[in-house]
Amino acid sequence: MVKVSIPYSTKEDKLYMQQVVWPQQCPCCKSRDVSAEYGLSHNAERHVISSTPTQTVSTHYPLNWNVPYCPTCLEHVQAASMMRFAAFGIWVVVVLIAVLAMPASLSTLSSGMRTLIYVLVLAVPILPAWIGYRILSRRVADSKRQPECINRNPALSVGSENGHIIFAFEDAEYGALFAELNDRPLEP
Ligand SMILES: [Zn+2]
Ligand SMILES: [Zn+2]
Repeated sequence: MVKVSIPYSTKEDKLYMQQVVWPQQCPCCKSRDVSAEYGLSHNAERHVISSTPTQTVSTHYPLNWNVPYCPTCLEHVQAASMMRFAAFGIWVVVVLIAVLAMPASLSTLSSGMRTLIYVLVLAVPILPAWIGYRILSRRVADSKRQPECINRNPALSVGSENGHIIFAFEDAEYGALFAELNDRPLEP
């Protein structure tokens, strides 16, 4: 994983930063067919502490980029995120069933015992959800994956820190190209 950070400044409700230039190749498989776009978004935040009365005011700056991606990789990225959503669904359903199946006699237990049961009800279904995710992601997301692909998930992500928007790339070569195009140093 390599990173490239781009400085920004804020003035009232606007965020100013240089125009981001994207390499014309897929960040996942490096195909030159970039007829698809991956929507990358980030919410940069700025906190200002005012003294009278003391309070923190946060301003949000929603940012969006359309990253050139190949259609095949966009498909496996979308499938992988759908699988995570499905795994979360499995967890919710198992928790609901457990809650509904709880006997009314539970209220006669001590509060410590009840807390333990509640924790178990929330924690145990993580296992079937995780297994479900593993199976579904292998079956669905990985079937769309090519041997050149670097990841089943998005090959890049974005965050912000200390007045910089930070782009992180799974592929070092792609990251280096991005750094060059945007005239910024490549960070390990
Ligand atoms: Zn690709
Ligand atoms: Zn891919």
